[in-house]
Amino acid sequence: MHVAVAPANDWILPQFDFHVEDLGHPGAKLFFSQINPYDALRRAVEASWKWLYGWDGRVGKNKVPRAVQSVKRITLTLRSTMDGVAHTFGSGEGEKQVHFALKHIVNSHQGDTAEKKNTRVREEILGVLVHEIVHCYQYNGKGKAPGGLIEGIADCVRLHDKLPPPHWKRVAPKGKHVPDPERPNDPGEWKWDWNWDAGYERTAYFFDWIDSTWQTWPESSRNTLQNTTSRSPPVTSAAGSAPPPSATSMPELPLPYGWIKQEHESGHPFYVDTRANPPRSIWTHPCEDEQYLKANPSPSPSGPSPPIGKGLFFRALNARLEESDWESEADLFLELTNWPREALWEAYCADYAPPQ
Ligand SMILES: [Zn+2]
Repeated sequence: MHVAVAPANDWILPQFDFHVEDLGHPGAKLFFSQINPYDALRRAVEASWKWLYGWDGRVGKNKVPRAVQSVKRITLTLRSTMDGVAHTFGSGEGEKQVHFALKHIVNSHQGDTAEKKNTRVREEILGVLVHEIVHCYQYNGKGKAPGGLIEGIADCVRLHDKLPPPHWKRVAPKGKHVPDPERPNDPGEWKWDWNWDAGYERTAYFFDWIDSTWQTWPESSRNTLQNTTSRSPPVTSAAGSAPPPSATSMPELPLPYGWIKQEHESGHPFYVDTRANPPRSIWTHPCEDEQYLKANPSPSPSGPSPPIGKGLFFRALNARLEESDWESEADLFLELTNWPREALWEAYCADYAPPQ
């Protein structure tokens, strides 16, 4: 006789409880036709472990993260009287409650064939559950991180887990020209929309971009996770490093702090160091410019190279939100990637804003 052996991580999974307010609700019927509640919750929990902690549930391989140990029970309630989509809250030591609106399930049942409708509703339920379960496991800068950052992390996990809703698009806000009153014929200065932490898909795609491209930046512009206190300006070494990726194949390297990219009337881009007095303009990216490199020598590598892979930035960000209070003045992005948040956002917008 064979005895079934439970997978190794079963003991650390939280207990799942499940309530349905109205079994006759069309949303409840759709839920049961498409979803196995245990499998869906387990998948969401494991996605959270994977992307927030890089932990695959195998005990002994690496230590069980503290946040994973602390969640003892997750109760999912499908609610008939609730508007909106879903929300999550703590309801005691180690207890989490996820409330999910049945109306939203009904509204997601869309598509031109029965099969497409069912796929859509299934993926929507799984995606919303991933988002909500991330809230059960993520750190939040001791309660002080902005809501947009928290929501962006939850939706980026949803994105990494390949469950984005079809209406999500990787589009950055495009910014606008702000005319200079003294030079009325000039197109004026280009101003980006700096609202990176609006949350949800906007923040999620920004994080996804950092996470996916970070490893393609030159070694010296990446910080090591062991060396997160470095405040040295981001620099790259011209000798031996790959040329900056071309705009068509990969996003361009973020600009060092204080630099902006503009377009010459000939169509060629040029770069301006706005912190120099007078501002200095050059044709090449500052990371290829001798004068810039001379003034900002590459720091000698310290510590071992970071492990490289998708999800690494994300894990570092979550870990950083565990350790300390969120301070709006401090730049976690600079600390983790060696690029100031503004420079990252600007590079991202330059690549993904819709054409003007
Ligand atoms: Zn949320």
